[in-house]
Amino acid sequence: MKRAATLSAADRRLIAAARAAIKCRYRDDWQEVGAALRTRSGKVFTGVNLDAYLGRMAVCAEAVALGRAVVDSGDAGIDTIVAVRHPPPTDKDRTIAVVSPCGACRELIFDYDRKARVIVPNGKSPKAVPIAELLPNKYTRGPER
Ligand SMILES: [Zn+2]
Repeated sequence: MKRAATLSAADRRLIAAARAAIKCRYRDDWQEVGAALRTRSGKVFTGVNLDAYLGRMAVCAEAVALGRAVVDSGDAGIDTIVAVRHPPPTDKDRTIAVVSPCGACRELIFDYDRKARVIVPNGKSPKAVPIAELLPNKYTRGPER
């Protein structure tokens, strides 16, 4: 069964949770992205990105949300995940819009649930796509199986 690209009420609540997280914890140049994931058991976990003076220490919002989920629920799988970006104070557009996961997060999401749905931008109405669609020819350490 192919899972729907159109968003459910639960998906819209997930976007709202990501927006609420970054709205609450926004810090210009430090925390700008919020994320929310729903585990396969239906629990929702949020995160915000953690920027750092040493850039390589920065952590994406999706990874923070996943870390909270793993600590609380173990490896419960990712049903659906979304990230949103808070605009800087200088932006006239105050929309906290859905953004695509970066390449590293695509790898991470796939590693924790190869069937995860990811909510991505799609004009005015975001849609959900399978993580595998966002990561063709995923890196593997050995021969492909
Ligand atoms: Zn990322």
